[in-house]
Amino acid sequence: MKKVAIIGGGFGALNVAWQLSNIAGPDKLQINVFEQDQQVAGMAGGFTEKNWAWTLEKHYHHLFAKDRAFQKFLKSLGLEEKLFFKKTKTSTRWQGKNFQLDSALSLLAFQELSLFDRLRTGVVLAFLKILPNGQFLEKYPASVFLQKTMGKKPWQIIWQPLFKSKFSAWAADINMAWFWARIKPRTVKLAYVEGGFQSLASEIQKQLVKKGVKFHLQERVEKIYLPKQAKNNQAYFKLKTKSLKSQNSTTQEKKYDLVISTLPSTQFKKIVALPELKDDHLRGLSAMTMVVRLKESLLPDKIYWLNINEKRWPFLAVVEHNNFIDNKHYNQEHLVYLGRYLSSDEPAYRQSAKTIWQSYLPYLRKLNPNIEQLLIDYRLYKEDFAQPLVKVNHSQHLPKMRTSCPKLYWVSMQHIYPFDRGLNQAIVASNQLVTEIKQDLGL
Ligand SMILES: Cc1cc2nc3c(=O)[nH]c(=O)nc-3n(C[C@H](O)[C@H](O)[C@H](O)COP(=O)(O)OP(=O)(O)OC[C@H]3O[C@@H](n4cnc5c(N)ncnc54)[C@H](O)[C@@H]3O)c2cc1C
Repeated sequence: MKKVAIIGGGFGALNVAWQLSNIAGPDKLQINVFEQDQQVAGMAGGFTEKNWAWTLEKHYHHLFAKDRAFQKFLKSLGLEEKLFFKKTKTSTRWQGKNFQLDSALSLLAFQELSLFDRLRTGVVLAFLKILPNGQFLEKYPASVFLQKTMGKKPWQIIWQPLFKSKFSAWAADINMAWFWARIKPRTVKLAYVEGGFQSLASEIQKQLVKKGVKFHLQERVEKIYLPKQAKNNQAYFKLKTKSLKSQNSTTQEKKYDLVISTLPSTQFKKIVALPELKDDHLRGLSAMTMVVRLKESLLPDKIYWLNINEKRWPFLAVVEHNNFIDNKHYNQEHLVYLGRYLSSDEPAYRQSAKTIWQSYLPYLRKLNPNIEQLLIDYRLYKEDFAQPLVKVNHSQHLPKMRTSCPKLYWVSMQHIYPFDRGLNQAIVASNQLVTEIKQDLGL
């Protein structure tokens, strides 16, 4: 029997545990999941409030209708019925007005651009949509490619503000394959799960426990000691873990035959010294999301997603969850996300929820002058590593899932490319990892 440690309890880790436990029962693989948080689900995790029937994600989450890997994962768990699909409305805020921009027709009606520019933009988007694989586009910076093909104005009005707020100082460096992969999987209908992604993850956890998987919640892995040849010639890892359950936290050291990390490089390199973790191409940005609970709707006309293309606004998107999901599940409250990406060394990243709220208020008043009367509460969530930076020819710098240390594996959002990180891709990547482990162990 081999002892396996999976570090992290996000959807990638849950899928690895599920797939491995299907291949080999607890008599062959004893699987342990270590999660520092009180609950599984990672960045897709959520919370609930009094009288809410469903959990709500800390950061806005939806799936696309064609996210097949995630659907297959749910099917294998017998949970596919939980998924449902709905049409939503996406708009762009530009010079004080909201413009619907989520279809060929709405683009054609967007009079801020000349007819010629609208047509060019539409043709390029249609080309990207039908292109089966756009990875070859990685040799071009999206900023250059889009200006050349769509024109200067569409770049300045529609795309540049989004690149700037998503990638800060690196906006001009992001490659065109990444942009292709943002356009390609988009569907008119979006998908969500009954009960919310946190309830889904907890349900999956229950099924895993029945299969013999052991969860160590609120237990942080602090150090991985790499194997030395043991007396009986069996190599093993030693994990130093710290229980966060009480103030008098305890540390433990235990042995494992195989270790799988699902952490981003910034967190992984804190617990192990591997040469590949020093690569500068592994850089990424942090995310900061404010969740606002309101008595009434904030956005007009049932807009679900509002891209903020205004200069100097502090957030890049306003996402009104209940213009997608019925607010009867949340005690009739209206829940709105204010999303933002930034470098973790920017002073704003360290500001309190109250300071951030005060700095957002003047802009929120422009969206709805009654915002203060509508407010119930707000919460602020931060993720230190939330968005990898994918520059020109990024495929040459992709980290391997088999690390330089045998039997130490790594799967994370930094292994996902050219598609953008997301739940579906976390399943795709973790499936690939399981195939590699299967080969290595001869299972
Ligand atoms: C703002 C925002 C919006 C998003 N929107 C969407 C969306 O609409 N649709 C979509 O599909 N995806 C979306 N995503 C992305 C999605 O959440 C992630 O791709 C996915 O959750 C990643 O799963 P993972 O298992 O790879 O990693 P994670 O979810 O990051 O899991 C890693 C886990 O490791 C734990 N951990 C870290 N260090 C240690 C340690 N030392 N010991 C033990 N545990 C540790 C963490 O607590 C965490 O739970 C969004 C992400 C963000 C930030």
